[in-house]
This record gives sequence, structure tokens and C-alpha cells, in this order.
Amino acid sequence: MPYCPSCGAKNKDGARFCEACGAPLAVAAAPSPPAAPAQTPAAAGSFGSAKNLITVAACIYAFTVPLAAFAGPIGFLTALIAITVVLLLAYEPLRKGNVASAKTGVLIGAGLAVLYTLIDFVMGSPIAAVLNLIAGGALVAAYMQLK
Ligand SMILES: [Zn+2]
Repeated sequence: MPYCPSCGAKNKDGARFCEACGAPLAVAAAPSPPAAPAQTPAAAGSFGSAKNLITVAACIYAFTVPLAAFAGPIGFLTALIAITVVLLLAYEPLRKGNVASAKTGVLIGAGLAVLYTLIDFVMGSPIAAVLNLIAGGALVAAYMQLK
């Protein structure tokens, strides 16, 4: 027995309009369609993991600095350059939301990682070479997240 939401009059079952005032009656509260799923900013999430990957790469590079120092001033310098590139050209732009710049920075960082991996192998520092390879991998993964 539906009651009119407007005037409170009793109405017959199945009535669509109130007999007393004509207001439309809610018909057995049809289940309202589920609210459209909120558009979650998926991009923001991806950027978050890209940031994490870039941070990982920077940390690995930081770890290679003392290792590279053993190999001589060139190794030390290249590791410092790699950290600078990753932080200034990749992490910073991403933090500011400049994805295009961040992608370029990540690519440069990954390129350096490959170069340094070769240099470290030639200079007889396989541990540093492997670390650079991992850093490069993290940067490539970050790049994929930014696409
Ligand atoms: Zn009514």
C-alpha cells in the first residue's frame, strides 16, 4: 500500500500517481542503477610507480658511486652524472607533472646505464656492471609506466 510522498495519502498498490494530489509515486523503489564508477586517475597511480622505479635506479646509482670510485675518477664521475641525470631530468619533472620531460630524462638515464654497464665490464668491475644493468632495467620499466 504505497503512501504518497507528497501529501501522504494512501494509494492502491501499483498506482503510479497519487489519487489525491497527482504526484508521481515511487514504484516499489526500483533498484537505482549503480553509480558510474568514479574515474580513478589511473595515470597518477602509474606515475607513482614510475617515481618509485626512478628512485630505485637513483639508489642503485648511489650505491655504484663507491664501487666506481675504486675503478678511478672516471667511474666516480660517470656514476655521479647518472644520479644527477636521473634526479634532475627524470624525477624532478615527474614530480612536477611534466611527463614528456620525465620520459626524455628516463631514456637518457637508461642510455647511460647501458653505456656504464659496458664501461664497467671493460674496466673489470662486474658488480658495478650488474648494478648499472639493474638501474637501467628500473628506468626502462619506469618509461613503460609513463607511456
Ligand atoms: Zn498525494
